[in-house]
Amino acid sequence: MKKRVLVTGASRGIGRAIAERLRGQGYDVVTHSVRSEGTDLRFDIADREACRAAIEADIAANGSYYGVVLNAGIADDNAFPALSGEQWDRVLRTDLDGFYNVLKPIVMPMVSARSQGRIIAISSVSGVVGNRGQVNYSAAKAGIIGAVKALAVELAKRSITVNCIAPGVIETDMIKDIPAEEVKKAIPMRRFGRCEEVASLAAYLMSEEAGYITRQVISINGGLC
Ligand code: NAP
Repeated sequence: MKKRVLVTGASRGIGRAIAERLRGQGYDVVTHSVRSEGTDLRFDIADREACRAAIEADIAANGSYYGVVLNAGIADDNAFPALSGEQWDRVLRTDLDGFYNVLKPIVMPMVSARSQGRIIAISSVSGVVGNRGQVNYSAAKAGIIGAVKALAVELAKRSITVNCIAPGVIETDMIKDIPAEEVKKAIPMRRFGRCEEVASLAAYLMSEEAGYITRQVISINGGLC
């Protein structure tokens, strides 16, 4: 039977590339977005009850997940003096609370399945080193790293691995407003990453071959840090 994998934020960008790669490798991929018509599931990851209802219904109908890629996320940047409470709350509620909201209904069924499991969270270079204008986003993405490391310890004896991918600057809608040439100068490889490059790493971490890698933050950033 095909292994079921949920990819959040799979309508575009990094999530879509990961979903396509995993599907190509024979996984039964369940795609998600907040509002895009083409995905299997649609809910706001900041809405705990919506996450619970949609995920529990999918698991009840189709069985537990072997893997999940927590990819959906937002940025809402501003220099700290101008960063509004609303910007802080929206990014923390979505990017950090989303980790809990999506995983909570998934983990117990995954444990009960008594097979291997894979949890991959997409953090960011901003969560590893911090980034100007992204105090809210950096806090949320650093929080995800802490959560992943703790959960990895809890789930290790169940053969469920929990890891973070920390991308640098990847060509997606999220970076469309940044000063591209300026930013490239700070990247040793002098280019942005491609979604497919992140997808390759996610596919490896999802594989049975990666069963001894857990509690790690793996960067993919062209040497940015
Ligand atoms: P993107 O192109 O902006 O796509 C975002 C995805 O997340 C979409 O599928 C979107 O669904 C979904 N989404 C947004 N808000 C949501 C919400 N409240 N609830 C549920 N789904 C929501 O983003 P991306 O650049 O591919 O980034 C993907 C992940 O990588 C994010 O976690 C981001 O922080 C991280 N990341 C990106 C970069 C980069 O340079 N691009 C670097 C480091 C880390 P809809 O299509 O329905 O809106």
